[in-house]
Amino acid sequence: MSIRNPYNALSFWFERLDAPLVPRAALTRDLDVDVAIAGAGFTGLWTAYYLKQLAPELTIAVLEAEIAGFGASGRNGGWLMSALEGSGAMLRQLPEAQAQQVRAQILGIIPEVERVLQAENIDCDFHRGGGLFAAARFDEQGERAKALLDELRVQGFGEDDYCWLDAAAASALVNVRDCRGGIYTPHIATINPAKLVRALASTVEKMGVQIFEQTPVRTIAPGLLETATAKVRARTVVAALEGYSATARAALPRHTIPVASKILVTEPLSPHQWQQLGFATRPAFSDMSRLISYAQRTTDGRLLFGARGSYDFGAQIRRDAALSAAEIAQQRRYLLDFFPALQDARITHAWAGSLGIPRAYRPHACFDRDSGLALAGGYVGEGVGAANLMARTLADLILQRDSVLATMPWAHSGPVANTLRHWEPEPLRWLAYKTIDRIFSWEERLCLDPASPHWKKSLAGRLADRAASFMH
Ligand SMILES: Cc1cc2nc3c(=O)[nH]c(=O)nc-3n(C[C@H](O)[C@H](O)[C@H](O)COP(=O)(O)OP(=O)(O)OC[C@H]3O[C@@H](n4cnc5c(N)ncnc54)[C@H](O)[C@@H]3O)c2cc1C
Repeated sequence: MSIRNPYNALSFWFERLDAPLVPRAALTRDLDVDVAIAGAGFTGLWTAYYLKQLAPELTIAVLEAEIAGFGASGRNGGWLMSALEGSGAMLRQLPEAQAQQVRAQILGIIPEVERVLQAENIDCDFHRGGGLFAAARFDEQGERAKALLDELRVQGFGEDDYCWLDAAAASALVNVRDCRGGIYTPHIATINPAKLVRALASTVEKMGVQIFEQTPVRTIAPGLLETATAKVRARTVVAALEGYSATARAALPRHTIPVASKILVTEPLSPHQWQQLGFATRPAFSDMSRLISYAQRTTDGRLLFGARGSYDFGAQIRRDAALSAAEIAQQRRYLLDFFPALQDARITHAWAGSLGIPRAYRPHACFDRDSGLALAGGYVGEGVGAANLMARTLADLILQRDSVLATMPWAHSGPVANTLRHWEPEPLRWLAYKTIDRIFSWEERLCLDPASPHWKKSLAGRLADRAASFMH
C-alpha cells in the first residue's frame, strides 16, 4: 500500500509502486565524499551503480531536488530502447570496424539492463515485446518509413535488427488507422520506469551510496555541490540534471534545453477493445509522424499514449505535472486519430514531464580530469535505455579505465564547456523551436487532409526536411 502524497500523483507509474513513497532525509550538514552527483534520475543513479560496482571503496553522495525519479525518469513512456538518438550521424562517420563496436554497444543496452534486473532482483514489469514504427494515417508516412529503413541499413543494422512488415503483418501487431506497413524491431522492451528508478535508488543505497532527497543543488562547481544549507566537497562532481540543467548554477554552457512531453493513460480496456487494437504481444508502438508519438499496453491492460513536445520561452521548466482540461482534450483528439476505436474509453491519468534536448541532438558522457567535473545526458527523449550506456561510459571515464566505452563517439574527455555545442541565445532558440513545430504541424495537417493539393504537401515536406536538418 502506498502513502498518498503529492509525489504519488506525478504519473500513473508512481501510483503503481508497491513501496511507500516517503522522501529520504534531506542533506543538512556539510559532507566530504569522493563523488557527488546532482540528480537522482536514471543518469545519476546508474552512474552511482557502476562506480560502486567497479570501485566499491568510493564514497558517493547523490543530491536530489525532490525524490528519486521525480524528473523524466519516473514519468516517461516506459520504452526501454537499445538505440541512441543521433546514432546515424555517429555511425556514418566511422570506419566499419569501429562502427561495428558502436552498434554492439548500442544493441547491448537492453541485455545489460536485463542482466542487472536479474542480478539485483528488480521487478519493473520488464517485457521484451519489440516495437513497431508504423506507416499509418497518411500516405507520406510510407515513404518516410522506407527512407528510415534505408538509413538504418546504411548505419549497418540488418534485417534481424529492423525489418519491414507489410500492411497486414503490421496491422496484426497494432491496428492503427490506415496502416500501410511499418518497421519492426526486437530492440525495444517496455517497463514501469518509476519502479526501475525507485528500485535503482534502493539498490545503490544498499551498496553504500548516500541519497539525499528534497535537497536542491544551487551550484555545481569543480570539487563542490552547494545547496541552500550545505556544501558537499568531492574530487569528482557529476551533473545529471538533463532537462533540469538550468536549475543549478554551473560553469557550463547552455547545452541542453527542456522540452515538455505529455502522456495520457486510458482505463483498463475490455478484451473486445484489445481485439480491435491489437497489441497482443505488447509491442511498443509509434508512427512516422514528425510530431512524435509513443504508446504501450500496460501490464494491467490500459493504453498509454504520449505525443508531441512544447518548449517555453527562456527554457522554462514545466514544474506542474498535471495537464489542463484543454491539454487533455487536445491529446485525446490526437489519440483518437490513431485509434478511433477508443472513442468511448475513459482517460484516467494524464501528466507532463521535461526531457532534455542538447544542441548537438545526441547523447554525451563527458569528464574533465583536471577539474573533476563530469556530465551525462542529452537523450532527446530516448534516455530510458541510453542513460544506462552513458552512465557506464561516464564511470569508465571517471575511473580512467582503458575500455571500449571510453573510445565511443559519445565519450568526451577534457573541459566540458569546450566539448558540448551551445544553444543559441533567446529569442533565437524559441523562434527556431516554434518555427520547426509550426512547419511540422502544418505539414501533418496537409497530409491528413485528402483535399490538400499535391504541390502544397510537397512544399511542406521539403520545408519540414530542411527544418529537421537544422537540428543535426
Ligand atoms: C513524458 C516523457 C516521456 C518519455 N518517454 C520516453 C520513453 O518512452 N523512452 C525513453 O527512452 N525515454 C523517454 N523519455 C526520456 C527519458 O525519460 C529521459 O531521457 C531520462 O529519464 C533522463 O534521465 P535523467 O536521469 O538524465 O534525467 P531526469 O530523470 O530528469 O533526472 C534529473 C533529476 O534531477 C533532479 N533535479 C532537478 N534540479 C535539481 C537540482 N537543482 N538539484 C538536484 N536535483 C535536481 C530532478 O528532480 C530529477 O529527478 C521521456 C521523457 C518524458 C518527459
